Amino acid sequence: MSDIFYRPTWAEIDLDAVAYNIKQMKQKLSSSSNIFAVVKANGYGHGAVKVARAALEAGASALAVALLEEALELRHSGINAPILVLGWVAPDYAKIAAEHDITLTFFQKEWLQELQSHMFSKKLKLHMKWDTGMGRIGIRKDEELQSLVSALKSTEKVQLTGIYTHFATADDTNSAYFHEQQKRFQQLLEVFEKLWDAPIDIHIGNSAASIRFSSEMYDYIRFGIAMYGLYPSEDVRNEKSIDLKPSFSLYSRLIHVKNLPKNESISYGATYVTNGSEWIGTLPIGYADGWIRKLQGMDVLVDGKRMPIVGRICMDQTMICLDKEYPVGTKVTLIGKSGKDEIEMDEIANYIDTINYEIPCMISERIPRVYKKNKLNLS
Ligand SMILES: *Cc1c(COP(=O)(O)O)cnc(C)c1O
Repeated sequence: MSDIFYRPTWAEIDLDAVAYNIKQMKQKLSSSSNIFAVVKANGYGHGAVKVARAALEAGASALAVALLEEALELRHSGINAPILVLGWVAPDYAKIAAEHDITLTFFQKEWLQELQSHMFSKKLKLHMKWDTGMGRIGIRKDEELQSLVSALKSTEKVQLTGIYTHFATADDTNSAYFHEQQKRFQQLLEVFEKLWDAPIDIHIGNSAASIRFSSEMYDYIRFGIAMYGLYPSEDVRNEKSIDLKPSFSLYSRLIHVKNLPKNESISYGATYVTNGSEWIGTLPIGYADGWIRKLQGMDVLVDGKRMPIVGRICMDQTMICLDKEYPVGTKVTLIGKSGKDEIEMDEIANYIDTINYEIPCMISERIPRVYKKNKLNLS
């Protein structure tokens, strides 16, 4: 998305907040633990390249993404930090990863064997994934670990640089299943240590695990949602063990304001009818921007005051009910602070029955991201 935009609807990304959140996390971690800044899905919708640069400057030492495409985007923008792909990449493309010094995740013997038929000149770095209870990807049993390690030893041009697992319930106050996964990880690690003596990096924690069990995090943490200033869950938020600053705000401007008498209807289906004389404002944002129809009835902030979305949200426009007349061009806050009030990502998420992670991912690329950064230098 270019820096020039003509429609007055934009997201503001506060990179100083990203840096602040990394520093808060660093203070909790033991000094031997480093940070993977997780910037998959275009940096959870915040902009992968910009967030990656800010995170590295603020003290993260590596990056993690979900797809090879995402890793390549970072490399092509000139970022030289280590990059780990967390998802599965077809062995056919391992060569591309090796050429760009991108670390891949593996957990299948057949996958390693496939590599033999794809010759590549540079060594491919690999992290092995262990499924200790997430049930998604990774090896689960001792036998799988043994056969994977022996396949690894007979595969040329690869270098094991890490092992990791992922927790399913680290964000829950009830830690029983978290500890069960930790136990399984420990058991696999004992087996592994008998088979392998070269140094490798170990990482197990996402944001929730890293915040709640900071001292148990081995060499790296995989820091995603909390880096963006969002709490991994209500439980983690209530524990108040870390202070996070949100980094994503969403703004628009009134493009039309009118006074309607009683009994006039608004938008498709004429589902909203004015109760009396009402000031109605129109915003240039709609469901094609990820501002989905389910947000009908949600508040926005005008001049620090809450005003409801009325009538159905259209593809490109949304109507709100104003408390009085405002000039065209008045700034409207859909996510973020205005005056003394704030609409948090969590409030939007609760309103549409989902988690905060989904909201910035859902705000489409049609909405330009504008970056705010005072404390750091960003090229
Ligand atoms: C997305 C992801 C993370 C980051 O999780 P957060 O909860 O956002 O911190 C960590 N590890 C893996 C494997 C992931 O897929």
